[in-house]
Amino acid sequence: MRCPFCAYEDTQVKDSRTVEEGAAIRRRRICPHCHARFTTCERVQIREMTVIKKNNSRVPFDREKLAKSVYVATSKRQFSSEDVELLVNQIQQKLERLGQGEISSELIGRYVMQALLAIDKVAYIRYASVYNNFTKAQDFEDFIALLRQENPK
Ligand SMILES: [Zn+2]
Repeated sequence: MRCPFCAYEDTQVKDSRTVEEGAAIRRRRICPHCHARFTTCERVQIREMTVIKKNNSRVPFDREKLAKSVYVATSKRQFSSEDVELLVNQIQQKLERLGQGEISSELIGRYVMQALLAIDKVAYIRYASVYNNFTKAQDFEDFIALLRQENPK
């Protein structure tokens, strides 16, 4: 940690202790060059993700928005709100595990589709219809035909 007063690179830790019930570590430091004392605080940061939309604009990842799209797709199916929250958590964790600060909205959509396909085809088709901007009945028919080909049963 660089000294904020003289910019000397190699400051020393005098002592460190955990605070906020272990949620943070506070370190008292001293600069051997100018003898300034200062304190640093280290704390867990939940990963911030930015979503790159189709039009290339960037917005902060919004769990509520993701959850809403899954609720819409699964409404009147056999899902409880707990099921949906769990599903959304799984998708979010999968995104976080990528370890990338920026993710495309397209990838989020693909993850949701993968998750829904595994558990409920109707919810999957509903989500896909929004995601792919279906505008006519033929779009559904084509999509379902493709789905049958890929997942015969
Ligand atoms: Zn200094």
